Amino acid sequence: METQFSQLSQHLYVHHGHVNTGILCDGDRALLIDPSGETLHATLTELGITNVEQILFTHHHRDSTTGFPMPDNARVGVPEKEASWFAEVETFWNDSQYRWHLYNYHPHNLMLADAIRVTDTYTEGAQIAWGSAVLTVLETPGHTDGSVTYLVDVDDKRFAFSGDLIYDEGKLWELYSLQKGQQTSDYHGFLGAREELKESLEKVRQVSPTALVPTHGVVMNDPNRAIDALLERLAYCYDKYVAISALRHYFPQLFEEFDGHPGHMPIREGKPPPEFLRHFGTTWMIISETGEAFVMDCGSPNILKQIQQLQTDGEISEVTQFWVTHYHDDHVNAIPEFQEAFPCETITDTVVAEVITNPIGFRLPCISPSVTRVDRITQDGDSWQWNEFTMTAYHFPGQTYYHGGLLVEGRGVRMFFAGDSFTMAGIDDYCSGNRNLLGADVGYEKCLRLIQELKPTHIFNCHVDPAFDFTDAEIAWMLDTLAEREKCYTELFPWDHANYGMDEHWVRCYPYEQEGTPGGTAQLRVEVTNHSDEPRTATAQPILPASWGMEIASRETTIPPRTDGHIDFSIPIPQSCEALGRIVIPVDITYNGQPLGQFREAIFVLNGSRHTPLCRNNGS
Ligand SMILES: [Zn+2]
Ligand SMILES: [Zn+2]
Repeated sequence: METQFSQLSQHLYVHHGHVNTGILCDGDRALLIDPSGETLHATLTELGITNVEQILFTHHHRDSTTGFPMPDNARVGVPEKEASWFAEVETFWNDSQYRWHLYNYHPHNLMLADAIRVTDTYTEGAQIAWGSAVLTVLETPGHTDGSVTYLVDVDDKRFAFSGDLIYDEGKLWELYSLQKGQQTSDYHGFLGAREELKESLEKVRQVSPTALVPTHGVVMNDPNRAIDALLERLAYCYDKYVAISALRHYFPQLFEEFDGHPGHMPIREGKPPPEFLRHFGTTWMIISETGEAFVMDCGSPNILKQIQQLQTDGEISEVTQFWVTHYHDDHVNAIPEFQEAFPCETITDTVVAEVITNPIGFRLPCISPSVTRVDRITQDGDSWQWNEFTMTAYHFPGQTYYHGGLLVEGRGVRMFFAGDSFTMAGIDDYCSGNRNLLGADVGYEKCLRLIQELKPTHIFNCHVDPAFDFTDAEIAWMLDTLAEREKCYTELFPWDHANYGMDEHWVRCYPYEQEGTPGGTAQLRVEVTNHSDEPRTATAQPILPASWGMEIASRETTIPPRTDGHIDFSIPIPQSCEALGRIVIPVDITYNGQPLGQFREAIFVLNGSRHTPLCRNNGS
């Protein structure tokens, strides 16, 4: 077998598995930093290590902390700020605030399925003497809130094990971990942890390490150059985000420093909506000459009262059609009550219907547990007549991938109901979890081409009172900025397309959550979006609880370029299953030959007649 490690100094080695593991040696004893994955054993054997005395983790992410069984007597040290995310993970998996609505993403769901026994916790400046080495802890948040860097002084050199702060010169492993709110919830905080990341990188630079050893990535022998390149690229990428961001309309105070910045699209004026429209909450209503109403979205019970008031006042007769723009909770929370109160046909796009008819199958930002009944599912371009208006439905992957758009023509206007997908300032792509894909004919590129072709006289956003439109020049401005983003964000990641670093859901489990019974069988599909221009192979293996006493073999599929592929598993649930409740099933992924560790997860909710506490296997 090929050697999978390199030597940094007399006593320090790095194993290059799916992550880098630091191996500090002293005879047959070792201290390991970020041990993960089964291939580590071969390296330890080759180095003659028989006694792993101590283990340190830079941060809590499951993809860099699992797969290497920890020796019973080893000391295990973690950042104090993340200690509970190692030792009490059941809290996260059983708390509905981390399952539904989801406006905050700290901690991240790349959380361990099983708790780890922790013996030591570290804060800034802590020192660990081990063999001939001294390790110093630097708190370096950014990739996660409590991430630390371990500085290793050994053999007259200094190495910084910097976690996932930086992947390589000018590169990041991914950016969805940097989604963080500053004056807002995390939901609106695209790249919101970039200042924290910058401060952490500067802190590491200050202590003059000989080399940076990242968890994901390659050893960097010129830390200054590596950090400068990343900070410069990140600033450029962020600038290209702000340039056409719709958020400048909602939170202008966040972007004051960019005012008048060249290359940033000026914010457009609104215009009054036609008099036959009403707007309350996130709902738009069209009132026909017949007195009938066409309603879009229903986010709160208050909307019902307002519609009933319009009926009482004689402004409308009845609601005869209902359209759902997208799955976000502030648009669907009260749909079940609406459907009770106003029996009419509910229509939505096919991609939106997948989520709102079965929300338990998804874990997405702002997701509502409310289940919507859909009577008619539209395909891209389906048209129908509603009184004096012609309606045409589109898949409109703007604010989220799971989003529709509706063109309404009549009474001398062409109105486009864009859900939450534009404001007068640009595009609503501030949440990476929403899957705003970059590239030709996907994401906002597809939406803008459609607007360019349809030329609506009025565009409507569910959160904005005025109508607006865009000039051809403004549409071209946004398209050019997106094309530039595709280039600069692709350079930011080690992947061959930006979407792998930006689309948190390029690998996903369906259903995300399902109910099961001991003795039954669960069906689990692992879906993978190939964002590359070449075919790619993907391998998946669900990791079952140890107490189930069985393994599911890994399965592989080949996915054509720019397409979704999937791998199906039938998973028997043991009759004798002790632990009922929420069981986390991590899924190990290998993509195009590159192992990614326990990259994603699914949830099984097991019901049975016996009463046992909620736990997976050891229940610590
Ligand atoms: Zn990580
Ligand atoms: Zn929305």
